[in-house]
Amino acid sequence: MPKRIEDLKLRCIYPYFKKFLQGHEDLNDHLESYLVGNYTMPPSLALPIIAALTPPEVEFNLTDDNIHQPLDYDEKVDLVVISCFTPQAQRAYEIADEYRKRNTKVILGGIHPTSIPEEALQHADSVCIGEVEPVWMDILRDCANGSMKRIYQATEVFSLENFPIPKRDIFPRDVYKWDAHIVLTTRGCSVRCGGCPIPNKERTHVRLRPVQNIIDDIKSMPYKEFYFADDTIMLPGKKYSKFLLKIMEQTKELDVSIFLASTMMMIPDPEFYRQLKAGGATSMYTIFGFDRVSSKLFSPECTKQEWQQSIDLVKMN
Ligand code: SF4
Repeated sequence: MPKRIEDLKLRCIYPYFKKFLQGHEDLNDHLESYLVGNYTMPPSLALPIIAALTPPEVEFNLTDDNIHQPLDYDEKVDLVVISCFTPQAQRAYEIADEYRKRNTKVILGGIHPTSIPEEALQHADSVCIGEVEPVWMDILRDCANGSMKRIYQATEVFSLENFPIPKRDIFPRDVYKWDAHIVLTTRGCSVRCGGCPIPNKERTHVRLRPVQNIIDDIKSMPYKEFYFADDTIMLPGKKYSKFLLKIMEQTKELDVSIFLASTMMMIPDPEFYRQLKAGGATSMYTIFGFDRVSSKLFSPECTKQEWQQSIDLVKMN
């Protein structure tokens, strides 16, 4: 029986995130020495973005499996929405299977289902491949009409001009002990480092989020520490450095601390890092091993001098 979108009831689920070391009990003795800072991460922005895109009349419910909120598989909802990374996928599938046993429709999305949709489809009625923003209202409309498709995948590239401020407060604030709150700055990447799912999920056309939208997002949160997780902004190239410095010019005024992410493809310019520091950058997460600079360092042709240059570059930060 078709419904109005406004009458839909959704159950969104963030499955338990199994951290790498939890799957390797043999490493327990070494845990202490390998832990750097707080070993917790904020949840991904996927469900807060979906919450922001959902019309306010729709009943939007969240279950956070990470803090062991109970799941009621017998609950009568129109759609179960599960977003997951690979370490969450097994749990996501277990949950999805339970709901589907009771004839409740399930849609899966996120990096893992996007990377292996054929696997995800064995556990879901539908899979959202790639960005959710352009297709979310189609999903709700089809759900209301009882005509969900197996695959939802946007044909057009989503413009970040229309990026909504994610509703992060759907997650309980004080239960997690994360330090820095994720702020989206870009989508897409044209570099294609080995094993990175971003060019596949977000496409290779890089889009920059409007600076004012980023600043409004930061100002909307009652926090002081933020994580720019998109390492694309640290890539060499005027387009990115100009964009990042423009953001940092404004964060300088906000008395905040920024945690950046980068590959080894960094800008070899001390002045650039001085400006980032002045804008509030206090730490950086370096992804090592997948980009072309890292690959070069691992190759037998790599010279001592090239290693030294890379070490100096990391120290520069
Ligand atoms: S690791 Fe970073 S730079 Fe490399 S493809 Fe992924 S997003 Fe792009």
